[in-house]
Amino acid sequence: MENTYTSTCHAAVMHGPLPSLFCCIGDPVIGNPTQIMMEAAFQSLGYPAYYLTCTVAKDQLGAAIKGIKALGFRGANITAPYKVDVLPFLDGCTDSARLTQAVNCISIENGTLLGDNTDGKGFLASIEQLTPVEGMRVLVFGAGGAARSIVTELALHGASSILIANRTEQKAQKIVEYLQPHVPCRLESIALQRGFSITQDYDLVVQATSVGLFSPQDTLDIVWEVQGTHRCIAADVVFNPVHTRFLDEAQNAGAITVDGLGMLVCQGAIAVSQWTGRQSEHAVMRSALTKAFLL
Ligand code: NDP
Repeated sequence: MENTYTSTCHAAVMHGPLPSLFCCIGDPVIGNPTQIMMEAAFQSLGYPAYYLTCTVAKDQLGAAIKGIKALGFRGANITAPYKVDVLPFLDGCTDSARLTQAVNCISIENGTLLGDNTDGKGFLASIEQLTPVEGMRVLVFGAGGAARSIVTELALHGASSILIANRTEQKAQKIVEYLQPHVPCRLESIALQRGFSITQDYDLVVQATSVGLFSPQDTLDIVWEVQGTHRCIAADVVFNPVHTRFLDEAQNAGAITVDGLGMLVCQGAIAVSQWTGRQSEHAVMRSALTKAFLL
């Protein structure tokens, strides 16, 4: 039997206005769960829309962006490896996107393409569901795209210090050098070596490397020497598996844990709100994702 959402879309095809169009662009995109979460959000809002997941080759990125504009798409998510490459094809971008130098969300209004970085905003929102980040002392593992967006947003929102630990330390140092002139937060970098010890109190420790993605047995080789006395928050960006070894180890050390679905759902909800002007239910989006991961 046809559900209400589908019949709303069909009624729109017959009588207008047409359902809005959105997509996710990357390569590869197989395994990217954004469509599932977005469709759940649109359905629960009763918002007539279609969301497509598109593989786009590197030399076709510009044509794809022109194409979604020409076809009247309302928005798009940009995923790896194009979060940086897409910038020259946009008409403008937000401060977060400019400082992160990466775009994962485009809004298209009156033919103008505005890029934003909702990864960092989503991460921030997932932490601020527990407590404000203002004044926090933060340790971030990783210096890739996810780490950069997280560091930028935490620094813009009043974290007092951020230490970035990365296997390739120069990448962490580059973030520090680029971002420090724009934010009051104290930024530092350090090399991430096996057996890295957390020897002092942090309010927030973030696992923002790709270690553990699709490999539940993998973990950063870190030692939590600070135990229990200070209730720190430990957050992982890896969302599949949802329960990672990093989070297990952090919990054993007495930390409050936040999984990668928190960031994923919050950044998706921010995109939905920018595109539709409406607030989607996080629980609906999270539940759609967890069901999909069991497939
Ligand atoms: P990048 O490829 O840009 O960066 C990867 C990072 O992981 C680098 O810092 C790299 O270090 C580090 N790394 C990789 N392998 C190892 C290892 N064996 N030991 C130590 N460090 C390692 O990836 P992204 O930043 O784009 O993505 C990182 C993760 O974030 C992915 O799992 C992705 O799925 C997740 N993510 C989650 C989101 C969410 O909403 N939850 C949103 C966006 C991303 P080095 O520089 O030395 O190579």
